[in-house]
Amino acid sequence: MIDNTQKEIEVTVEPDKRYTPICHICKTKANGVHSYHERMIRDLNVFDARTMIRYRYRKIRCRTCGIVVEDLGLVEPSLRMTRRLARYILELCKMMTIREIADHLGLDWKTIKDIHKEALKNRYEEEDIGYPVLLAVDEISVKKQHRYLTIIINWETGRVLFVGRGRRCNTLKDFFRSLTGKQRAAIQAVAMDMWDPYIKAVTKYCPHAAIVFDQFHVISSFGRVINRVLK
Ligand SMILES: [Zn+2]
Repeated sequence: MIDNTQKEIEVTVEPDKRYTPICHICKTKANGVHSYHERMIRDLNVFDARTMIRYRYRKIRCRTCGIVVEDLGLVEPSLRMTRRLARYILELCKMMTIREIADHLGLDWKTIKDIHKEALKNRYEEEDIGYPVLLAVDEISVKKQHRYLTIIINWETGRVLFVGRGRRCNTLKDFFRSLTGKQRAAIQAVAMDMWDPYIKAVTKYCPHAAIVFDQFHVISSFGRVINRVLK
């Protein structure tokens, strides 16, 4: 369901009944389903639309752990958000204050603080980014200081690959230069706003990659043109 006026997207996720659910603690197959549940969780924004997942899941009978929640895959059972959103927040913590991140995502200040605290405890480590095929580039503004940050995400996994200051061609170049030639060659498409400096950087470093403009930005650009013509 997409609501263009509210810029909110709701996605429903249902368990795939062909597979036996597994226990989120010991990862073994369930002995049977105990009950069905549903909760709303927050995911990474799809471009600038706030994205909610209506997540249907089961409580299961596990031989060793008793009645527990099944393994939820992309969701951290203790948080009301996806793992990729939590990872995004952690990346932002390197550049923004907790208050700024809370404003940017419309989340509670305490939620952000808890994620940060948890990550510090677990000594969250940087892994190799592998060979992403589809990238999404987004910019966010930090209102008070008129600062911009550029975010690059692996579109398929939702993993945040890079957060850079500004939204210039050089901001993206820093990212592309950190990749190997083989990593750059693997990129097939980049989704982004119609923003010349980004287009320039992608054209230079990944000339073979397709550039895709997202619908929300395209619609608002057309809206501006139509308004001008009407006037
Ligand atoms: Zn178990």
